[in-house]
Amino acid sequence: MINFVGAGPGAADLITVRGKELLEQADIIIYAGSLVNPELLKYAKESCEIYNSASMTLEEVAETMIRGEREQKNIVRLHTGDPAIYGAIREQMDILDEHGIEYKVCPGVSSLFGTAAALKAEYTLPDVSQSVIVTRMAGRTPVPEKESIESFAAHHATMVVFLSTGMLGELSKRLIDGGYEPETPAAIVYKATWQDEKVVRTTVKDLEKSAKENNITKTALITIGDFLGSKYDRSKLYDHSFSHEFRAAKETERS
Ligand code: SAH
Repeated sequence: MINFVGAGPGAADLITVRGKELLEQADIIIYAGSLVNPELLKYAKESCEIYNSASMTLEEVAETMIRGEREQKNIVRLHTGDPAIYGAIREQMDILDEHGIEYKVCPGVSSLFGTAAALKAEYTLPDVSQSVIVTRMAGRTPVPEKESIESFAAHHATMVVFLSTGMLGELSKRLIDGGYEPETPAAIVYKATWQDEKVVRTTVKDLEKSAKENNITKTALITIGDFLGSKYDRSKLYDHSFSHEFRAAKETERS
């Protein structure tokens, strides 16, 4: 059996209980060495074969899985954050399907949420934004034209930008071209939940400058929007005058 497992955003204790158990049972672990915390490998059995996929091709990863399956081994493919976000898991699954090999997915805490925790922020504030746009700038991997930063910026929703730390000048320009005020709050979170995490609060126009001042060139998420500001409406769900399935409205004012 092959399990794709989300390692979480960085801190080793942010893997799920299930993910940890799968690591403990694994005979083979193939981990994404560029971003998975190597501390997680301490959960592996002494006899476990460990491979760092950073130096492997898709075919080499697949061959290792197929060989392990033939030997009836427990295999864990350990991806950073949650495997569903920029995890390149689909191409691996398609190869396994071609070979009739079964697999499961164990979710993980994405850096999307590690970053919100580092910021102590809520992405979905009433009357500010009720949507989160998760995207990236085009790099070696292209982004479909209809998903341009400008078109997303026009929504003024909360935006979280992956894989773009080296292109912040262009990101600012596109956000402003798309309709963001240059002074809109933004934040750069480097290595969220790791020991050397850095949180830099800035504005849309100063993204590149702020990253430079803090020597941040990679492994960061850029968040943009008024969820980083101070104005919002309180939630209806906890409002004293609002009844719902589990609670009747109260007459008294909130103290
Ligand atoms: N599947 C991962 C994302 C993989 S893409 C997830 O769910 O988090 C790799 C990109 O994710 C990095 O270039 C960076 O933009 C972001 N990233 C990964 N871990 C991060 C962390 N701890 N803090 C900030 N950004 C991170």
